[in-house]
Amino acid sequence: MLGILASVASLVLGAVTAHHADAAHPAPARALPAHEVPRHAPTVHTSTGPYPEPVEEVARELPSQPDPTRFEDGRVITGATAHRLILFSFDDGPDLNTTPRLLDELDAAGVHAVFFTVASRIEGDTPRQREQADLLGEIERRGHLIGHHTVHHRQLPLLSNEEIIAEVDDGQRDIERVLGHRPYLLRPPGGARSPRVDRLLAARGYTEMLWNLGTGDFQVRDADEVVRTFRRVLQRRERENGERGGIVLMHDPHPWTVEAFPRIVAELRAKNCELLAQGEELYDIVDDPRFFFEARRGDDGTALAQPAEPEASVLQARQERLRSVTSARCSQVARR
Ligand SMILES: [Zn+2]
Repeated sequence: MLGILASVASLVLGAVTAHHADAAHPAPARALPAHEVPRHAPTVHTSTGPYPEPVEEVARELPSQPDPTRFEDGRVITGATAHRLILFSFDDGPDLNTTPRLLDELDAAGVHAVFFTVASRIEGDTPRQREQADLLGEIERRGHLIGHHTVHHRQLPLLSNEEIIAEVDDGQRDIERVLGHRPYLLRPPGGARSPRVDRLLAARGYTEMLWNLGTGDFQVRDADEVVRTFRRVLQRRERENGERGGIVLMHDPHPWTVEAFPRIVAELRAKNCELLAQGEELYDIVDDPRFFFEARRGDDGTALAQPAEPEASVLQARQERLRSVTSARCSQVARR
């Protein structure tokens, strides 16, 4: 029981790792040139959130979708950062009942995220699988990045090399069939990895993306719980590790997750009003894993990326822009 609790705790707080021995494999890699990658057409949204106008302001300032081919050969991304950088990620979809609503919430919030898809949902020829495949294309068209979450969502360290390779290559083929290009980001199910798994994935050009801000949304059935857990984990990370931001793990097939997401964004933006008044760094919701990405530079794929430390000038420019948007928004809220 304690063991289960411990592993659940580590799932909420961050990814678990398991260590075993290994072998590697050659990697195919082909991607469409950047200009052929589908682009997000900017749209104007009417937000239903508490801060309609300024949120739109932020949405208009979002950069276009990050180039999915830029995430090849990175060190294992943990999400660690001393800065208030927040990147949302959603696993285990796409789901016909919940993902379309989440896409609307993301649009309304002006946020782009990373979606880690389970390829068994989009392979095959059932009407549901075909609709889910269409939905995967829609996620990308709306500006989000698609990552690989294996075909069957099995814990990779428990599989043989051949089984791991099948999970990765088969799923890659399915995703490529739908999107026209392969993914380079992969999230191992449950965050379970080992040096052997790392090397097999690295040999295929993948960058593993873990998380440091769990929301526990796979354990509860209630948006309140998800929001509370996010808040608690964010505070605990800061207190224990000095990590003031990071990568958020959520699961789009849960309706309570769809409900919790805009509340978490609203909470971060409300917190920014306080932080602004205190002259503190603001929460910056980013849409590009490059903030957390570090090139592998020839190592074997088992190394963790350094905590995210973007160029000071980039951070400063973003913070300045964020301050002006936040200042306008918060004074508007205060006037109401
Ligand atoms: Zn998963």
